Amino acid sequence: MAQAKFLKEADLAAWLGELAKGRKVLVPQKDGDAVVFKPWHEGVKPVLDRQATESPKKAVFPASEKLFRFSYIKDPENPGKVRVELEEPEKPEPALVFGGRPCDARGFLIFDRVYDSPKTRDSYYVARREATAFVTLACPEASNTCFCHAVGSGPADTAGSDALMTPVEGGYVLEAISPKGEELLKSPLLSDAGDKLAQAERVKAQAVESLPPAPDFAGSPEALMARFDDMGFWENASAKCISCGACTYLCPTCYCFSITDEESGMKGVRMRSWDNCMSYQFTLEASGHNPRPTKAHRLKNRVGHKFSYYPLIHKGAIACCGCGRCIKSCPVSVDIREIVTMAIEAAPTAEESAQPQGAKQ
Ligand code: SF4
Ligand code: SF4
Repeated sequence: MAQAKFLKEADLAAWLGELAKGRKVLVPQKDGDAVVFKPWHEGVKPVLDRQATESPKKAVFPASEKLFRFSYIKDPENPGKVRVELEEPEKPEPALVFGGRPCDARGFLIFDRVYDSPKTRDSYYVARREATAFVTLACPEASNTCFCHAVGSGPADTAGSDALMTPVEGGYVLEAISPKGEELLKSPLLSDAGDKLAQAERVKAQAVESLPPAPDFAGSPEALMARFDDMGFWENASAKCISCGACTYLCPTCYCFSITDEESGMKGVRMRSWDNCMSYQFTLEASGHNPRPTKAHRLKNRVGHKFSYYPLIHKGAIACCGCGRCIKSCPVSVDIREIVTMAIEAAPTAEESAQPQGAKQ
C-alpha cells in the first residue's frame, strides 16, 4: 500500500479547492431532504455523515447526454440526394467524485463489464470513466438497509476507488489505491498518517461489525432461474410495487437507456437518456406487443438481471453493490433482499429435484 496520509478536518475545504483546480469535483450536498452529488464550489460543505440519496452514476453515465449532432446536407446538383454529416461530442472534462461510499465506487465495476469489455466498448462511457477519479469515504457505520457484505464488498472496500478516506479523530486518513489516487494525494495539506492509521483500521473494523449477518445469496442465479416461469411467485413479490421506477434511477448499477433523435429542420441531435425496466413502455414494441406486460414480469427482470442473468454471464459477479437505496427509497418498501431470499428458500431441495417428474407434491 502506498504511504497513508492525514488530512485535518479544518483543511478539507482547502484540499477540495486544490482538487477543483482543472476538474469538476462532485460532492454530496443537501438538496431539500435529499443528498445529491453536485459540483463543489467554495462555501459548500459536503454531507459526509450519511450515504447520499442518489448514487453518483451520472458522473460517468449522465441521465441524458448528447451522443452527436447531425445535419442533412442536400446535394445542390441533385436535391433528391441527401448526405448526413455528424459532429462528434466534446471530450468530457476531468472530474472527481468525492465522498461517495465504497458501494458507489463498486457500482462502476458492474458497469465496466458491460460498457468496457472486449466485446463492447462504449466510447462515451469509457471516455468519462477515464476522465473521472473517485475519492471514496469508508463508512464508519452501516445503516439497516446496507448489505454490501452480502455481495462480496464491505464498508471499507477499495474496489473501484482511486483513494479511500477514513474518518478519524480530527480528520481523515487517506490511502491511495491507484496511480490516479497517488497523484491526488500529492498535496502539501496532507501529512504522514503516523499513528492515525491504526485508528483508521479500527474504524473500518467497527463498521464491518456494525453490519448484521450477511444474507446468503450463494445459489441466487440458479434459484431465480428455477422461479422463472413461476408467475405466482412474481405476482406475490411485486404485489406492493407501484412501478414508479425510483429503484432504478437511484441504483448505482442500473445501466439501461433509450435513444432518441431530436430534430429541427435539417439538423438534429441524438440523445441517450436513462430508461428503466420497471416501466411498461421500456419493452413495448412498435407492434403493440409487450414481452413484459405486468409489473410482476418487470420485477422478475430487475431482480433476475442483478442476481441471476448477470452473474451467469460474468463469472458469478452479482450486479448489485448492496447499497440499499432501492429499499430505503421505495415508497412501498419492496425489499430486494427479501425477494432473492424467498427465491432461494423456495428452490427445490436436491432430493426434490432428484424425484422423477410427477412424483412431486
Ligand atoms: S439493486 Fe438496490 S441495493 Fe442493489 S445496487 Fe441497486 S439500489 Fe443498491
Ligand atoms: S452498503 Fe456498505 S459501503 Fe454502502 S453505505 Fe452501506 S455500509 Fe457503506
